[in-house]
Amino acid sequence: MSTPPPARLTVLAGPTAVGKGTVSSDVRERYPEVWLSVSATTRRPRPGEVDGVHYHFVTAERFDAMAEAGELLEWAVVHGVNRYGTPRRPVEERLAAGVPALLEIDLQGARQVRASMPGARFVFLAPPSWEELERRLVGRGTEDAEERERRLATARVELAAEPEFDHVVVNDDVHRATDELVHVMGLVPHDPAVAGRR
Ligand code: 5GP
Repeated sequence: MSTPPPARLTVLAGPTAVGKGTVSSDVRERYPEVWLSVSATTRRPRPGEVDGVHYHFVTAERFDAMAEAGELLEWAVVHGVNRYGTPRRPVEERLAAGVPALLEIDLQGARQVRASMPGARFVFLAPPSWEELERRLVGRGTEDAEERERRLATARVELAAEPEFDHVVVNDDVHRATDELVHVMGLVPHDPAVAGRR
């Protein structure tokens, strides 16, 4: 299969705990030519998360002010608790400069971007199976039981959205999934076996 034409903007979505964050980190490490949007969020940082790198950690008041001022390309309440949103200006600047940009956001956000930027490319990161998704969600151990149930309920709904997307990438192996994602973005994967397998 030939490499698709370069995408201006690619949106990566998928159910909770499917590994979107891990794939994004892998993109950050191995494909520095891709610009990763840094979302604003009202949730607290987890250990190891750096403000301005993984997220812009902001207060609810600051988040609301950004949303109100139209500074967010999209935003959503995720898992019924915290607000997450994509700052608009950095995305517009990268697109204007022709830099491939990637947003890793939830399904609600992806739908908003589809409405406002229909030319974007939409990629669904899928788990190898529901059992594997459940295992990853429990295995991560960063949420309590109630939060985990809430995330599983969200994940069931999110899995059903797969047909809305342009491409589905199965996260069976992080490096492989990352290489397939950048291939879908129109870049040349570092692992030529990915292109060869498709
Ligand atoms: P986490 O709290 O585990 O970092 O992320 C929770 C969820 O929020 C993930 O599904 C992630 O994709 C989503 N998310 C992160 N940033 C954004 C954003 O800017 N907008 C939207 N809509 N969702 C986001």
